[in-house]
Amino acid sequence: MNLYQDYGIKYASAIPLSDCVITRPYLLHRAGLMYDSNSNSNSGSVLIMLVPYYDGSPPGNISVCSAPRDYHLYFNELFASILPELQRLMPGAIFCGFSDHSPIDERDTAAKGGLGVIGRNRLLINEEYSSFCFIGEIISDIPASDWPRLITGLHSVTAQEVKRCTGCGACERACPVGGGRTADVSKCLSELTQKKKLTPDEEKIVAANGSVWGCDACQFACPMTKRAIISGSIKTPIKFFRENIIPTITNEILDDLIKAEEYSRRAYSWREPDVIRRNILLTSRSKGDEDYNKYSKY
Ligand code: SF4
Ligand code: SF4
Repeated sequence: MNLYQDYGIKYASAIPLSDCVITRPYLLHRAGLMYDSNSNSNSGSVLIMLVPYYDGSPPGNISVCSAPRDYHLYFNELFASILPELQRLMPGAIFCGFSDHSPIDERDTAAKGGLGVIGRNRLLINEEYSSFCFIGEIISDIPASDWPRLITGLHSVTAQEVKRCTGCGACERACPVGGGRTADVSKCLSELTQKKKLTPDEEKIVAANGSVWGCDACQFACPMTKRAIISGSIKTPIKFFRENIIPTITNEILDDLIKAEEYSRRAYSWREPDVIRRNILLTSRSKGDEDYNKYSKY
């Protein structure tokens, strides 16, 4: 199987499961994979993959990763295609796909697989896609050294030392709420836009920064992103992320999404549309307008 030719996935590595940070062991057990948190001789391996998602179109009022359909749908389709083929090639072995809700620290595993560096913006940064890629993985009971028999063109089959970015600080200077640092999770604009209820102070932050869902400021400020945009390497070749793009949401677009039953296919659909409507309302207010309270009914 050639992941690049078949699926547009250029960056993939296999590393032993014992080299990964296990964050949710119960997911391994549920998949039938043996794992003992008290042992350092756990067998099995992880095929870790980067999936670029940015089509290169100008960003709107939602984060670039939320402009296409929900990436969980993409990974469901990907695994539905790959896993039976792996099973056919290696009958009796266990193969289980994860993304986001994963038993392992995905960012750390991708860095150990040599697929990128860990940035001060806390994201994995790849040389071609910068941080504009999702991470997914297939966990198996086979050793990492068996993966090249199944997948051609792997980047690595051993764990490497985790590398860090240059630490230039551009991401921190660009953060609209971090005061010269990248914001911690509770204050991050991305987190705030997703909150069901906002305090008046939080409403002001959302209103002032113009984002209806998510924030990409620390990603776009990174010189590795700038290089990837200039060279064009950032653009995803994957059809799923080049179609059905909605970079800007308005109330009318939201109504259409709901009517067409498309809302449930969007990354923001785990929140009710009223959260988006609130943010649209807040961001449509002029920065100088302090009368936010009457708009905070949601
Ligand atoms: S996503 Fe936005 S608010 Fe959050 S740390 Fe990055 S720049 Fe700051
Ligand atoms: S902007 Fe600079 S410090 Fe921030 S992640 Fe990119 S290279 Fe690292």
